[in-house]
Amino acid sequence: MNIKKGDNVMVITGKDKGKTGTVQRVMLDRDRVLVKDINTVQKRTRPARQGQKGQTVTVARSMHASNVMLLCKNCKKPVRVGYRKDGDQKVRYCKQCEATN
Ligand SMILES: [Zn+2]
Repeated sequence: MNIKKGDNVMVITGKDKGKTGTVQRVMLDRDRVLVKDINTVQKRTRPARQGQKGQTVTVARSMHASNVMLLCKNCKKPVRVGYRKDGDQKVRYCKQCEATN
């Protein structure tokens, strides 16, 4: 899993291909990410009480992390990332421009 919460990612497959968004949640155990306003579905809610109307709400669903790529802050492209050591810290970097992300 190379994606973290708060990352800007581009969707590379599926109906939202080419769209970008911010990662809101990462499900490490399932390799899934939830991206704001991406992979949305319409959900209809039932009226909670009598006299109320059901509503249609748009909710984002999670998708597999392999369906998105990190948008590099430096070269602004969807890129593959690697990890390298920086002192005793492991940092993530862009394989295109080598910038730390
Ligand atoms: Zn880059």
